[in-house]
Amino acid sequence: MFVGHYGVSFATKRADASIPLWVLFLAVQWLDVMWAPLVMLGIEKVRIVPGFTATNPLDLYYMPYTHSLIAAILWSGAAVAAYRFVAGASAKASLLVGLAVFSHWILDLIVHIPDLPLYDNAMKVGLGLWNHPIPAFSLEAALLLVAMLWYLQSSHVRRPALIAFGLVMLGVQAFVFFGPPPVSPDAAAATALGAYGIFALAIWLLVDRHTLRAASIRS
Ligand SMILES: [Zn+2]
Repeated sequence: MFVGHYGVSFATKRADASIPLWVLFLAVQWLDVMWAPLVMLGIEKVRIVPGFTATNPLDLYYMPYTHSLIAAILWSGAAVAAYRFVAGASAKASLLVGLAVFSHWILDLIVHIPDLPLYDNAMKVGLGLWNHPIPAFSLEAALLLVAMLWYLQSSHVRRPALIAFGLVMLGVQAFVFFGPPPVSPDAAAATALGAYGIFALAIWLLVDRHTLRAASIRS
């Protein structure tokens, strides 16, 4: 899953407005943010096989450190600890950030073919929605847009700007599903990492920059 993960960011933001959206944008993609450098270092492995699934050509045959269930639980726990003890956030906010990290694995489970190990590189699971392009794209769009609109009901963020950003994200999703395949595993990893960084920066510019300033004026 790609942009659908950000639906969790917006829903979590509505549940606890103290958490910056850029943090939640990185949290919901954290397993992929770690996956990209591990692929580039040759520690986790992916093959580009055109036609491998109906929506993308990624044969993700070895990713025990980021996308096994055990790894997802450990990364989520690390996120709770980091947000609580490094960032000094509340217990509730820290738990929510941990759940945001873990949500990545649950949503990946729906779309991935059985390439998600329960532990190490064994017992792989995945429900395979990637092989059904229209339902897969619809799920990504619905998760993103429904949660974004739900969040917008509770905030004073400029709606047109955020909705336009959401549509750009859907455009990127369409390119990933229906555009040309990446030229290499390194290119796929670098593109993904770049997109996660740009999206996090964009949401900081669109939302966090203004809300943090408003909070500091109030205090
Ligand atoms: Zn993933």
